[in-house]
Amino acid sequence: MNDPTNEPASPQRAQEGVGDPGPKPGPSDEPTGRVRWFQGLPETPDGSRPWVELAAGPARTVRATRRLQFAIGHRVLGHEGKCAYLHGHNFVFLLTAMGIDQPQDDLGRVIDFGVLKARLGGWLERAWDHGMLLWSNDVEAITAMSHVQGQKLFMLPYNPTAENLARYILEHVGPLVLGDTRVRLVKVEVWETENGKAEASI
Ligand SMILES: [Zn+2]
Repeated sequence: MNDPTNEPASPQRAQEGVGDPGPKPGPSDEPTGRVRWFQGLPETPDGSRPWVELAAGPARTVRATRRLQFAIGHRVLGHEGKCAYLHGHNFVFLLTAMGIDQPQDDLGRVIDFGVLKARLGGWLERAWDHGMLLWSNDVEAITAMSHVQGQKLFMLPYNPTAENLARYILEHVGPLVLGDTRVRLVKVEVWETENGKAEASI
């Protein structure tokens, strides 16, 4: 609501759900997806409670997202501009998980955020953090890295663009580190800069 690009709520919109509650079924035949909401909404002039529309039926997609950030070097082999040179970013990863059989556990979670951090963040820290990501075809850069003592190097089967990092995490890292949990990774967003992100999802 604080987004200045949003249109301010018009008087008509502000009255939605209050002014036109629609047909009023009896208590025993309330339609799916409509509830009376008793908190935070004003009463209608006649004192009745407004109807509030909900998504039909129970929530079908309950997902949990963990944000992680790591400093990673890379270059885009064949890039037309400066991305062809070795450089790095503070990559931000938004990793979204979803239950395989049940959307939530007995406590109401998709999965504990701490587990996502430990599993996915642990892998990313070990393999990519303060390391260099290179395409396995990038012989020149791989050779150069081999001369830097202790340099962490991770080779990918394709250029290490943000798009491909998202794909790699979704297709390989997620199944690897979450395979024994009740969730799977369904979406990976990779912010390479504050203004540019790529994502992969299933
Ligand atoms: Zn870059």
